[in-house]
Amino acid sequence: MKYKRILLKLSGEALTGNKATNIDPDVLEQYCEEIKAVKEQGVQLAIVIGGGNIFRGGQAEALGIDRVQGDYMGMLATVINAMALQSALERHGVYTRLMAGIKMEQVCEPFIRRRAIRHLEKGRIVIFGAGIGNPYFTTDSTASLRAIEIQADVVLKGTRVDGVYTKDPLKFPDAVRYQTLSFQEAYEKNLNIMDMTAFTLCQENKLPIIVFDMNKKGNLLKIAQGEEAGTLIR
Ligand code: UDP
Repeated sequence: MKYKRILLKLSGEALTGNKATNIDPDVLEQYCEEIKAVKEQGVQLAIVIGGGNIFRGGQAEALGIDRVQGDYMGMLATVINAMALQSALERHGVYTRLMAGIKMEQVCEPFIRRRAIRHLEKGRIVIFGAGIGNPYFTTDSTASLRAIEIQADVVLKGTRVDGVYTKDPLKFPDAVRYQTLSFQEAYEKNLNIMDMTAFTLCQENKLPIIVFDMNKKGNLLKIAQGEEAGTLIR
């Protein structure tokens, strides 16, 4: 395996799949299989999951909800997804721990860096819920920050496209996928890989990011093995 410790970022929105419900059981099932396959190779895996399928802070104001309040609602949304993922993974016989940036003792542990690392060393998958625990951040920033804190080798950003393109591949058939990019290039070309906070954290701490298609079967394992799939930013 190329990477020993990985931070996987999953978007909340992708969990909706093709269903009208917030969480599509088929997507959850597929994610578990992908994650389990990587885990079985002895890779230490931490996961940050978003909450966009349930609530985003950015939606708040249009609903007459205070922005900060909305951000907390978004953080709580990520906990709902994290709990669903935890339960599904445990059904697959994978040991997990859910750690949250907001105290919620009945459902998850508080985030304590040393303890998170200990869980990983013991072979448990650590899921980070409730983001960083602060408004005005996103789960992308959470992924970058937690990855740095736990000294992950890479951030794998699972999306619905297989990497970063010169232009929107859904609109332009001649769009070309980048295999690798430097942080500087991605910044200059305004490629919007993650929000700037998240992106800068990775750049300053020399933490590589790989953007890849999480919906393609076997892709996560391929990437963990170091195969070229998706776009590597370093
Ligand atoms: N959020 C926050 N602080 C954090 C992480 C998340 O305030 O540290 C809020 C923010 O409002 C965000 C929402 O939680 O819109 C859901 O997360 P995100 O939009 O990143 O989820 P995704 O787009 O990955 O599904």
